[in-house]
This record gives sequence, structure tokens and C-alpha cells, in this order.
Amino acid sequence: MHELSIVANLFEILEEKAEEKKAKKILSVKLRVGALSGVVPEFLETAFDIYKKDTIAAEAELKIEKVPLKIQCKKCGAEIVKDDFIFICDKCDSRELKTLSGTELLLEKIEMEVN
Ligand SMILES: [Zn+2]
Repeated sequence: MHELSIVANLFEILEEKAEEKKAKKILSVKLRVGALSGVVPEFLETAFDIYKKDTIAAEAELKIEKVPLKIQCKKCGAEIVKDDFIFICDKCDSRELKTLSGTELLLEKIEMEVN
């Protein structure tokens, strides 16, 4: 499962950040997951819950913000939110499209308890 290695990397970052801030525990973690990031949010949640046991984030809640796939047509300039992954402009049928968002996988925020 691809998501497991992502979560393993995530925990390396979390532990580093917690150490930096001398945090006692991590309360929540927020991720932005693009529709086209190749990651299944539900798998990510499962992997997170398995991984967090006995770590500084044992009680942490994972919050996932799903980012839809948004494209812009290079021909007519239309910005379209896609939910079907069919890469054709709705307005002019052009296939020359630019991805604006939806491919990202970002660690947006970590909440920690310090002292
Ligand atoms: Zn177009």
C-alpha cells in the first residue's frame, strides 16, 4: 500500500517537528490531498491510525482536506473543476489543459501540545 510509505514519511516529519518545538504530543495533523495525487484519503486515514500507536501522535486526529482537480483550458481559458478525470474542456472540447490544483499532497498544519 502506497499510503503506508507516505504515512511513514509523515511520521518522520512529525517527530522532527515535535522535537524542534519540544512538544509533548501531537493533537492533530492536517493534510491537503489532491484528487489526482494518487493517494486514497481513506487508506491514508487507516494507515495513520495503524502507524500512530506508541508514537508522539498516538492521540492525534488526522484531518484530510480533499482538493478537487481543477484545470484551465489553454485554448479558451475556462477554469473547470473535474470530477470525472476526462481531460477535455467542457466549453470548447480542447484537450490542451493545464492543471491548476488537485495533484498536491501537502502537510498543511500540525497542532501540538507544548510544555
Ligand atoms: Zn476550452
